[in-house]
Amino acid sequence: MSNVPVAVVTGSNKGIGFAIVRALCKQFPGDVYLTARDPGRGQEAVAKLQEEGLHPLFHQLDIDDLQSIRALRDFLKEKYGGLNVLVNNAGIAFKVHDTTPFAVQAEVTLKTNFFGTRNVCMELLPLVKPYGKVVNVSSMVSSSALGRCSQELQQKFRSDTITEDELVKLMTKFVEDTKKSVHEKEGWPNTAYGVSKIGVTVLSRIQARMLNEKRKGDHILLNACCPGWVRTDMAGPKATKSPDEGAETPVYLALLPSDADGPHGQFLSDKTVRSW
Ligand code: NAP
Repeated sequence: MSNVPVAVVTGSNKGIGFAIVRALCKQFPGDVYLTARDPGRGQEAVAKLQEEGLHPLFHQLDIDDLQSIRALRDFLKEKYGGLNVLVNNAGIAFKVHDTTPFAVQAEVTLKTNFFGTRNVCMELLPLVKPYGKVVNVSSMVSSSALGRCSQELQQKFRSDTITEDELVKLMTKFVEDTKKSVHEKEGWPNTAYGVSKIGVTVLSRIQARMLNEKRKGDHILLNACCPGWVRTDMAGPKATKSPDEGAETPVYLALLPSDADGPHGQFLSDKTVRSW
């Protein structure tokens, strides 16, 4: 088994994830895994970084596929006995003018952004080694969508005692409510992406609390962040940050020094803790 530290970035064949891998290859003292659901796109991305003189490794990972997540889990367990850095970056967003029915957009978006991310966490968090770092890439849109929820939902999503089960039930309810076209009446904002990222931010707060309760002595730091508005296939060419700039906050959180006792359980943008 290798004692080399290991970092894993989900959805890193392009966009912000790719830039996070690039930065980690330069700054993380260990093996860095670029992962992609499509091995062809993944290997192409690895080759691009190799041309820059960097040496990422590759593993397939589709966060929508539990078997794929478990294959990565088993690989990390066997080869490294765990992992040191996990960046949950993979995500999707329908374009504003996409005419796919809203209920379908809600189901598909939540499936990857919330449920897929949660499944990766369920399988990989137990493997994170002491002093490890976990970064969940959320979005400022989670904050703005929170502000457009009913007071009752806002209170639940801001609660310091909400459980993961309760959060899963709420995310499931959102999808069900969109199918019945009652989501607005039920207090939800009209944004599937926004609700999925509320889920990611709240999940991060819950996970950090669980780490405090169950693994306090392990000094693991887990946070959610927004990369900013970044020029990628998701956000388009008008966005203000380059992918490398978008990678800065996630990479800052992934590389917090081992003597840091925070941030933990926070939501950050531009390396600054934001109120939730
Ligand atoms: P992007 O260019 O569209 O890249 C998304 C990445 O996620 C791609 O590598 C994609 O792989 C991967 N992915 C999607 N579904 C996946 C799945 N089921 N399993 C594994 N990988 C999957 O988007 P981006 O702008 O870099 O976004 C990265 C993260 O930042 C997302 O979580 C996004 O919500 C968040 N974010 C972005 C912005 C922004 O302005 N760009 C702002 C706030 C937050 P494929 O190539 O196979 O599709």
